[in-house]
Amino acid sequence: MVEYNEVLNVKSDMVIRMYTKVIKIDKDNIDEAALEDLKAAAALLQNGELVAFPTETVYGLGGDALREDAAKKIYAAKGRPSDNPLIVHVADIKQVEKIAKDIPDNAKALMERFWPGPLTIVFNKKECVPHGTTGGLNTVAVRMPNHNVARELIRISGVMLAAPSANLSGRPSPTCAEHVYEDMQERIPMIIDGGQVGIGLESTIVDVTDDRAMILRPGYITKEMLEEVIGEVAVDKAILNPQGSDYKPKAPGMKYRHYAPKADMTLFEGEAKSVIEYINNLTAECEKQGKRVGVIASDETIDKYDCKDVLSIGTREDEATIAHNLYYILRQFDEMNVDVIYSECFKDEKLGSAIMNRLKKAAGYKITKV
Ligand code: AMP
Ligand code: MG
Repeated sequence: MVEYNEVLNVKSDMVIRMYTKVIKIDKDNIDEAALEDLKAAAALLQNGELVAFPTETVYGLGGDALREDAAKKIYAAKGRPSDNPLIVHVADIKQVEKIAKDIPDNAKALMERFWPGPLTIVFNKKECVPHGTTGGLNTVAVRMPNHNVARELIRISGVMLAAPSANLSGRPSPTCAEHVYEDMQERIPMIIDGGQVGIGLESTIVDVTDDRAMILRPGYITKEMLEEVIGEVAVDKAILNPQGSDYKPKAPGMKYRHYAPKADMTLFEGEAKSVIEYINNLTAECEKQGKRVGVIASDETIDKYDCKDVLSIGTREDEATIAHNLYYILRQFDEMNVDVIYSECFKDEKLGSAIMNRLKKAAGYKITKV
C-alpha cells in the first residue's frame, strides 16, 4: 500500500533508489577508524540525508530533526503514516533546552534518573522544531539513548536526530543491522552496524505537558520505576483498552497494528498446561490442512510442544530476555514463511506490560482465553 503523508505531502513510493553502505562499529571500542566512519555518517546527516544507527532499544533511522526535508525522507523511506510523529534523539541535556519550550520539574527528575536510557519524554515544542518532525503536533518527544555509537553520532554531527525505528512501517522493529538492511536497502545511503541491541523493545514514552505525567507507551522503564521518582503516573486509556473504543491515543503511533509479522498471529491466555494442550491440538489441525505453524514458547515450556517450528522467546524467570528476543523471533518466523503464529502470554505487569503490549499489537489484538 502506498501511504500518503498529508503533513509533508510525500508518498512512500517517492523514495529515490540508492546504494546503501554498511559500516561496522564496535560500541565498546570507538577507535580512530570508527571516528572516521562516524564523520562520514555525520556529513550525510548534515546534508539532510538519513543514517540508520544502533541504540540500546532498537535500531533508529536518523535524520536532522530540525529539517523538514530530512523528516520527509524518513517518512518516505519507512512508508510511515502521516500522523505518526518522530522521537528526537539528543546527546546532552542542553540540546533539550533548544527544542522544548519548558522543562517541568518532574521531567528534570526523570532525565536525571533515567537518561541516558530507554525513556522518551514529550514536551511542548519550540518554534524551531518543524511540524514535519512532530506529525503536525505542538509537542515534541525527546530521548537520550544509552549507546555510545548513537551519542557519538549526534555529538560529532551536531545534529539532533529525529529517529523512528529503522523498519518499514508495519514490520517488526529491527534489533540487528541485518534486519535494517532487509527493510532499508537501496532506500537510505548508510547503515551503522553496531551488533545486536541490548533491550530489544522501544522506549517508554511519558508525557509531561499536563500536571500529571502520563505513560503513552509502555517500555523497559516501568510505571513503578517512574513513580518511584515522581509519584503517581497516569496511563493513557488507549494502552489499557485499545479495542473497540473511540478513544484517540495520545501517542498517535499507538493506534497502528505495527510490529506485525507476515503470518496470522494469535495469543493464548490461561494455565500453562491448558495453553500447551490447546496449541498442540490447533497446530495438529493446521498441519493437516497443509499450513506451517510457528509457536512462540518459553524456556520453561518449549519441550512440551509437539510441532517442529517452535521457538523459545526466553525465560519467564527473566523477562528482559523475552523483551530482547521478541522482534527477532517475529522476523525469524517471517523468514521461515510460517502461515500461522501461536504464542503464549506473559504477566501483564512491570516489563511484562511492554511485552504484552507489543505481542497484542503484533497479533492485531487476537487473544483466545483457554
Ligand atoms: P517509533 O519511532 O517507531 O518508536 O515510534 C515513535 C512513537 O512515539 C509513536 O508511537 C509516536 O506516536 C510517539 N510520539 C512521537 N512524538 C510524539 C509526541 N509529540 N506526542 C505523543 N507521541 C509521540
Ligand atoms: Mg516503530
